[in-house]
Amino acid sequence: MPSPISTDVLIVGGGVAGLWLNARLRLAGWSTLLVEQGSLGGGQTLKSQGIIHGGAKYALHGALTGASEAIADMPRRWREALAGSGELDLRGVRLLSEAHYLWSPGTLAGNLTSFFASKAVRGRVDAVKGEQLPPALQNPAFKGKVYRLAELVVDVPSLVARLAELADGSLLAAERIEPLREDGLLAGLLIDGREVRAQRIVLSAGAGNEALLAALGVQQPAMQRRPLHMVMAKGEALKPLYAHCLGGGPKPRMTVTTHPAADGQWVWYLGGDLAEADGVARTEEQQIAAARREVSQLLPWVDLTHVHWATLRVDRAEPAQSGLVRPDNAFLAAEGPLLVGWPTKLALAPDFADRVIEALASAGLRPTPNTPLPALQPPPLGTPAWEVLP
Ligand SMILES: Cc1cc2nc3c(=O)[nH]c(=O)nc-3n(C[C@H](O)[C@H](O)[C@H](O)COP(=O)(O)OP(=O)(O)OC[C@H]3O[C@@H](n4cnc5c(N)ncnc54)[C@H](O)[C@@H]3O)c2cc1C
Repeated sequence: MPSPISTDVLIVGGGVAGLWLNARLRLAGWSTLLVEQGSLGGGQTLKSQGIIHGGAKYALHGALTGASEAIADMPRRWREALAGSGELDLRGVRLLSEAHYLWSPGTLAGNLTSFFASKAVRGRVDAVKGEQLPPALQNPAFKGKVYRLAELVVDVPSLVARLAELADGSLLAAERIEPLREDGLLAGLLIDGREVRAQRIVLSAGAGNEALLAALGVQQPAMQRRPLHMVMAKGEALKPLYAHCLGGGPKPRMTVTTHPAADGQWVWYLGGDLAEADGVARTEEQQIAAARREVSQLLPWVDLTHVHWATLRVDRAEPAQSGLVRPDNAFLAAEGPLLVGWPTKLALAPDFADRVIEALASAGLRPTPNTPLPALQPPPLGTPAWEVLP
C-alpha cells in the first residue's frame, strides 16, 4: 500500500480551474496535491475556444452588471501572466490572437449603436478596416463592419502544458476516489486506496463535480449542464479568424476561433448560436450542413471544396441557476472542509483561484510545514479535439 500523504489543499480535477489554482497556491507556499481521473485539460478546457473574455460580448444584453466586474479584469490579468509579470509565469504559452473581433455582416446598425453607446465597452472597442481586418475577412467582397475587442485568444494546449509544469510534481493520476472519514467528518480522500489528508478539499472537476458530490453525500451546490454541438473545419483555404459574428439576437450568431493542428494546418472551431439548442438537436451530418451554409453565406469567398468537417458534442458544466442567465463570474461554495466550484469560463480561472484563496483566509488557515511529496504518477496531457480531423 503506498504511503499516506498529508497536504494543505487537495484539488480534484485537472482542468484549467484546478491547474491554475494549484499553481497559485504553490507560489503562495501552500502544499497541494491535484488528482485527475482522465487527462489534464481533457474535460471542457481543451474543448474551449480559448477566448479571454472581458465581458464586452455580454454588453449586447444590455449594461454589464456589477457581477461582471471580475470578468472585465480578466484580459489584463492574463496579459500580465503571459508576459511573465503576473500572478503566474505563463511565458511560453502561445497567444493565438491579440484581439477577438465583433463582426456584423450586414445591417445591424441599431443593435450596434446601443452596444457602442454602453459605458461598458467605451474605450475597449475600436472599429477596424482594410489591412487591420482579420485575414479571413480581407476580401473585396466583404461588406460588413468589424470591431476589435481588447480580448485575447490563447492556445489552450500550450496553456495546459505550462500549468502542468508549474505543478512541479504535485499531479497524481487517479482511478478511484472515495471519502476518507474520521469520526464521521471528512478528513481527506482515499485515492486508489491511498490516504490523502488535507485541510481543505477543492472539487474543480467540471461536470465530474456532480458525481463526486453524490459520492460524498452532499446535496448542494447543484450543477447544470449546457449542451453544445460545436463544429470543426480544417483545410488550407481557411485563414485565421477570431470573431463573434453578430446576428439579430443577444447571442452571437456564430463564434469562430482558429487553432493550429499538429500538422501545421489551421482548424476553424465554430460555436455561438450555431452550437446551441437548434444545433444540439441536429445530427452530426445536419450540423455540418448547417455550418457549411452559415460559412457560405457569411464568407462566400472561402472555397470549402477541400475542407474536412467534424462535430463535437460537449456540455458546459455550471452551477444550477434559474432561467437561462449565464454566470459571468466564477462560482465557489464552501461546506466544512469541502470547497466546490466551477469557473464557468476558462477566462475566469484567476477569479476561481481568488475565491478559493479568500475561503482559506476567511477560515483562518495558513500553509503548514508538510513533508515533501513522494514521486507520483502524473496524469497524461489531454489531446485537442480537432486532432480527430485528417
Ligand atoms: C465548446 C466550449 C467552448 C468554450 N469556450 C470558452 C472560451 O472561449 N472562453 C472561456 O473563457 N471559456 C470557454 N468555455 C468554458 C470553459 O471551457 C470552462 O468553463 C472551463 O474549461 C472549465 O474548467 P474546469 O477546470 O472547471 O473544468 P474541466 O476542464 O471540465 O476540467 C475538469 C477535470 O476534472 C476531471 N475529473 C472529472 N471527474 C473527476 C473525478 N471524479 N476525479 C478526478 N478528476 C475528475 C476531468 O477529467 C477534467 O480533466 C468553453 C466551453 C465549451 C464547452
